[in-house]
Amino acid sequence: MKRIMIDMDDTITIDGYIDVVNKFLKKNITYEDIPNYWVDDIVPESQLPKYLKFFYTKTNVYDYVKINENAIEVIEELTKYYEVIICSAYTDYRYIENCVNIVPYKHKWLLKHLPSVNPDNFIFTSNKKCIQAEIKIDDKISNLEDNISEVKLLMTAYHNKNISDEKLKEKNIIRVNNWNDVAEILLKH
Ligand SMILES: [Mg+2]
Repeated sequence: MKRIMIDMDDTITIDGYIDVVNKFLKKNITYEDIPNYWVDDIVPESQLPKYLKFFYTKTNVYDYVKINENAIEVIEELTKYYEVIICSAYTDYRYIENCVNIVPYKHKWLLKHLPSVNPDNFIFTSNKKCIQAEIKIDDKISNLEDNISEVKLLMTAYHNKNISDEKLKEKNIIRVNNWNDVAEILLKH
């Protein structure tokens, strides 16, 4: 049985982080306003300490997230043919002592929404390169750059949508725009 590593944020779940930023700033920021990977880069430097405290000690971002369409159904189907591992990063060096607060929220969300995945296979680490899996699905390119996986699927997200297919091809990465694309590639028998 081949193993699949599946990322959580912006792969299984979407939004959430931007909603928390908007709640904190009392604004209506959209993805068009976000220049980088990190949604909270939009928070002014002067307000960042307050924001991080708000995010890590007063907020469960998973109360705000939505499910990427069909993610749950496709993952459930994948578990019949593959060993599915959910791997989610949590380290934040701007708030390193308490960034671990987010892990129980991730764990609870996965337990509730992905009962088809064995909780033994929830892995919380930012060092995804150490995960031995033939197939990896992630929205962050650097998480797919390893010498281990054979099939690397990049889930389209606001921060990666402008990367050309040619550029991805150089890295042996295939873009998937949604979970139906994932099913098309991994569940065709
Ligand atoms: Mg992600």
